[in-house]
Amino acid sequence: MPVSAPITQDVRTIPRRLPEAGRPNLVGLTRDQMRAALVAAGTPERQANMRTGQIWQWIYQKGVRDFAAMTNLAKPFRAMLAESFAIALPEVVRREVSADGTRKYLVRIAGGHEVETVYIPEEGRGTLCISSQVGCTLTCSFCHTGTQKLVRNLTAAEIVGQIMLARDDLGEWPAPGRNPKDETRLLSNIVLMGMGEPLYNFEAVRDAMKIAMDPEGISLSRRRITLSTSGVVPEIARTADEIGCHLAVSFHATTDAVRDRLVPINRKWNIATLLDALRAYPKASNSERITFEYVMLKGVNDSDEDARRLVKLIAGIPAKINLIPFNEWPGAPYERSSNTRIRAFADIVYNAGYASPIRTPRGEDIMAACGQLKSETERERKSRAQIAREAGI
Ligand code: SAH
Ligand code: SF4
Repeated sequence: MPVSAPITQDVRTIPRRLPEAGRPNLVGLTRDQMRAALVAAGTPERQANMRTGQIWQWIYQKGVRDFAAMTNLAKPFRAMLAESFAIALPEVVRREVSADGTRKYLVRIAGGHEVETVYIPEEGRGTLCISSQVGCTLTCSFCHTGTQKLVRNLTAAEIVGQIMLARDDLGEWPAPGRNPKDETRLLSNIVLMGMGEPLYNFEAVRDAMKIAMDPEGISLSRRRITLSTSGVVPEIARTADEIGCHLAVSFHATTDAVRDRLVPINRKWNIATLLDALRAYPKASNSERITFEYVMLKGVNDSDEDARRLVKLIAGIPAKINLIPFNEWPGAPYERSSNTRIRAFADIVYNAGYASPIRTPRGEDIMAACGQLKSETERERKSRAQIAREAGI
């Protein structure tokens, strides 16, 4: 299906802010790192824990960017903070709003690189899709980001900064006295499903998600965070241990021959190895099922036989199957399966006892749907030879 003509309601190019002075940024620091930074700047050891908690609340719960406004801290301490540190976010350089309300932010990070962040409003909730890398080392053949070279990993500050800039845009910093745990938040869920492979940037993703989950940080429940991986097997157990969020896996095929082509990391860790790691995922249970993402590609992976093979493969794993109609991008070598085909596939999976929701494409008119993200400034493409090398062909 062709991507519909742009019906963007609101495109704003945001004027550039002045570059930050070279003071260390407090955003994205773990508690230990912030405590150490405060002590190094002269805060007495015995106060550092409490000060860290207070500063976190100002930054992550109230959205304050000016040390002078941190009124429960003594004035000389505020002055010391202002002299020594910055509270800096990546810069939103363009904001687009889709006809369906989806918002896409083009975010500029240090070095002039750009990533995209997408906010998807839904009935009673809102999901922010966050990027973890500029580009991707992997080369999934149906993914737009996969055609872009990896430029660099995002820092924890740049990852948590995406949550903060979305809350700025949504105007969602709680008024004084409002419970920040309020489940009616506009930004109530996070998915690590933007650009990049989060498990190839493990430490920064973990540190940012710890801030997102911390009661003195953004304070979202770990159950409201989903990390999607293409199948970096050695990091899957670590995800449960060190982050504890919900896991989604880009499965997409039921034979190694097809998965090798679609998700080339399969050549390193094949279907059987991946399924073993998922069977061992300690967080998986009936209340916390693993999401299997399955992109529907016409004539490639969408037959009844595929659906039957899929349910056999995943037997015994608490799972739900999220069927994603393929989202086209310029030059994409695949087509989306028909709605009838997707429904027939979904029925087989459902009748085998698995929830099989079909993901509604959101923000297609602004190229914000799954797999369409790619920063226009990063023109450097992977060569065919490099793609083949990385895919192990
Ligand atoms: N790198 C991670 C997370 C980012 S991709 C991963 O691969 O899991 C988020 C989801 O969108 C993945 O399931 C990915 O396979 C899927 N996706 C990629 N390109 C797509 C496209 N063109 N249409 C639909 N889904 C796509
Ligand atoms: Fe990278 Fe995920 Fe795209 Fe594959 S699907 S190229 S892992 S972003």
